[in-house]
Amino acid sequence: MENILDFDYSTLEEKVLQLNEPGFRASQIWEGLYKLNYSNWNDFSNLPIPLRTSLSQQYNILSLNPLKESNTIDQKTTKILFQLEDGNLVESVHLVNKNRNTVCISTQAGCSVGCTFCATGENGFFRNLLVSEIVGQVLFFSHRLHAIGQRITNIVLMGMGEPFLNYDATLQSLKRFNDPKGIAIGARKITISTIGITEKIIKFADEQRQFKLAISLHAPDDKIREELIPLANKYSIKEILKSANYYILKTNRRITYEYVLINKINSNREQAQKLAELLKKQNCHVNLIPVNSNSHFKGKPPSIQSINEFNNILLSNGISTTIRNSQGSTIKAGCGQLAGIK
Ligand code: SAH
Ligand code: SF4
Repeated sequence: MENILDFDYSTLEEKVLQLNEPGFRASQIWEGLYKLNYSNWNDFSNLPIPLRTSLSQQYNILSLNPLKESNTIDQKTTKILFQLEDGNLVESVHLVNKNRNTVCISTQAGCSVGCTFCATGENGFFRNLLVSEIVGQVLFFSHRLHAIGQRITNIVLMGMGEPFLNYDATLQSLKRFNDPKGIAIGARKITISTIGITEKIIKFADEQRQFKLAISLHAPDDKIREELIPLANKYSIKEILKSANYYILKTNRRITYEYVLINKINSNREQAQKLAELLKKQNCHVNLIPVNSNSHFKGKPPSIQSINEFNNILLSNGISTTIRNSQGSTIKAGCGQLAGIK
């Protein structure tokens, strides 16, 4: 069965007209799906019953089956394992932080990039997610929060997969999250993270949207980067910085770089200095992420002292930074820990 969430607004309008219904029904359906948090065709009390019946015979609303839920002891992090209709598995995370409800969403089942330190890459790639499956993850959490009088405040596309290798579905989903007539989350509250697919960074810049772009850099030179990220042999740091510059120029937004700190690999003083040289002329922010453990990866985070040293070198070069704590790592819900296995 087709999923209604796969339609953008104009396709939905066409479908409504094909059912011999007036065009305004599309806006009622859209509002029910994305604003009023309806999850079942019976909820659409704004539609005539015969229309609800024919919609329910033709279209699914949610196609994700939540198989398993894990919670941290402090209840601030929840991880959901979803089964897709074809049996593939993906995970999403809800993080509570002060008055923020952030959801971390997947864009692919698995990932073909295969970074050595990441659990998603370990099991390989299965397939791209559909718009309905990306948007469906957000609606799942939105419905839950709605039931307790809350809403999602931030969305990060930092779950499983490389969003820019599923570009079209990802962009359509971002627009859906941002749509003022729908989920209505501000573009500045939505972050997309990429391993650095430069031609897509340029394409994304040309969209001229205000979404936050994060680039996973992880090394100050190509040699180390290639050891960590197999795909880095196709995308040099020089090209990445060039595409990031283009993004900054086109959108007037700063870039965030993510840098996973791994002891004895990419985290000594010289490497910090080298990174600072690369980035100090750019309008950027650096998130330092002490590496989370994964069963197959033996690397460890550096000591707190080394992390602070690395951070101070960036700061003293005028680069703003955040040292990220890994919320949810006790339930394998931290960065790079989503494996999508039962
Ligand atoms: N594929 C995209 C988005 C998903 S990963 C990307 O790589 O950017 C989100 C972030 O988690 C990335 O910055 C990634 O490098 C980081 N990450 C992956 N494995 C990690 C680990 N073991 N510890 C800490 N961060 C990790
Ligand atoms: Fe894929 Fe990102 Fe994990 Fe690398 S870090 S394997 S790009 S999900």
